[in-house]
Amino acid sequence: MSTPWQKDGYEAVIGLEIHVQLNTASKMFCSCPNQFGDEPNTNVCFVCLAHPGALPVANAEAVRQSARVGLALGCRIPDVSEFSRKQYFYPDSPKAYQISQYDQPLCAEGLFRVPGADGFEVRITRAHLEEDAAKMIHAGGDSGRISGSAGSIVDFNRVGTPLLEIVTEPDIRSPEDARRFLTLLRATVVAIGASECDMEKGSLRADANVSIRPIGSTEYGTKTELKNMNSFRFLERGVEAELERQLGLLQAGEKIEQETLHFDPASGTLSSLRSKEQAHDYRYFPEPDLLPVTQDQASLAALAAELPELPVARFERLTEAGIVEATALVLATDTELAAYFDDLAARTGDIKVASNWVMGELQAHLNADNLSAAASPVTPARLAELIALIVDGTINQTAAKEVFAALVEDPQATASGVVEERDLAQVGGDDALGEIIDAVLAAHPDEVEAFKGGREQVIGFLVGQCMKQSGGRADAKALQGLLRARLSA
Ligand SMILES: [Zn+2]
Repeated sequence: MSTPWQKDGYEAVIGLEIHVQLNTASKMFCSCPNQFGDEPNTNVCFVCLAHPGALPVANAEAVRQSARVGLALGCRIPDVSEFSRKQYFYPDSPKAYQISQYDQPLCAEGLFRVPGADGFEVRITRAHLEEDAAKMIHAGGDSGRISGSAGSIVDFNRVGTPLLEIVTEPDIRSPEDARRFLTLLRATVVAIGASECDMEKGSLRADANVSIRPIGSTEYGTKTELKNMNSFRFLERGVEAELERQLGLLQAGEKIEQETLHFDPASGTLSSLRSKEQAHDYRYFPEPDLLPVTQDQASLAALAAELPELPVARFERLTEAGIVEATALVLATDTELAAYFDDLAARTGDIKVASNWVMGELQAHLNADNLSAAASPVTPARLAELIALIVDGTINQTAAKEVFAALVEDPQATASGVVEERDLAQVGGDDALGEIIDAVLAAHPDEVEAFKGGREQVIGFLVGQCMKQSGGRADAKALQGLLRARLSA
């Protein structure tokens, strides 16, 4: 069961359109470098600037990566797909049309499952390959948006970047589920290496189609489109705000207009970009300069077999092994952290202990030092040695944290070396603990009397005193047992 948004008899109906910039070496239809952050208008040529007579050639690697994404989303990859021209006039498109796909997309009819106790399924309508537009920079205003700017300039480096547009059916029932779905979809594309999917850099962009309808109705209400939400949180908040706006309109007896909206995360408000009357008729027709794309099913089967473990499968493998869902989700969506975890679990032979360390000390260190798991100086081998020292009783948890910090500080240090150097080994022998207990009991006769008089809870205080006396190194369990035996004698 998912977690539906339902209010005053209405339910949410949400579909997503996700644009993923593929990380191929070159652009979709020319050999210009496909990279972000270069000097404006340097990665351009006759083809992507649409000089007359220049002919496009489809990027085979972009086709291959798109097919891999389609396979990972459970799509059917038809034997033949076709490029089409989508006509529109805007300064970000030098051709005055975009090469896209229309009725014969590269990937069709997929199904993506968000796993877990409150999991749900989202049908994928299609995923089609197209070229990105140029980047418009609206200058002279405060917001960087077109309204209030003095003029716009165009950077054509981005024009012709391979773009995979993934379209879902309206199967999502809450803003939270929209975020969860997009998080896992992003992780899936990243795991197969087709894109960095960096929302801040625009290599992943999401639009949401939002409507509400009476609970139980099978018909759809009028939908609006929320454009370009550039973070998971903004997506969730934007959809939430739009659902509330639509509910308010219906309750006031008004109609919902079909329109495209912009969500402003700073103010939490929605503004209209265009209404249906201004909607484009793109006059699609088959692209005459490109051959249809053909696929052979044997090669596709080989491509599917070579896919790495995907986040959904990883989530299920971990939860079946007893890892709690929240932890499994973190590991499922971070391939590097998951590889670290798998390595550590194999070395320690205990996935629970491995997950506690990865989610606790390791994550805290990675966040604090802004590192990825693979870049941490504390390798799985070094951490496994530390864990072995806890398991065999050499050190307690308090000392283990100090050893971990030392391993972060000094990449040459070993856990056993740190323990020896700083004298962190547990005080566990009866003689050594006995001495400490004798000293503490002699120093606190009143508490000893109180315990003997029936105030059992005093033992906590006495354990604390002994622990302090040992410099935090006492074996807590052995200490408790010995102290009780001594007091009851
Ligand atoms: Zn070019």
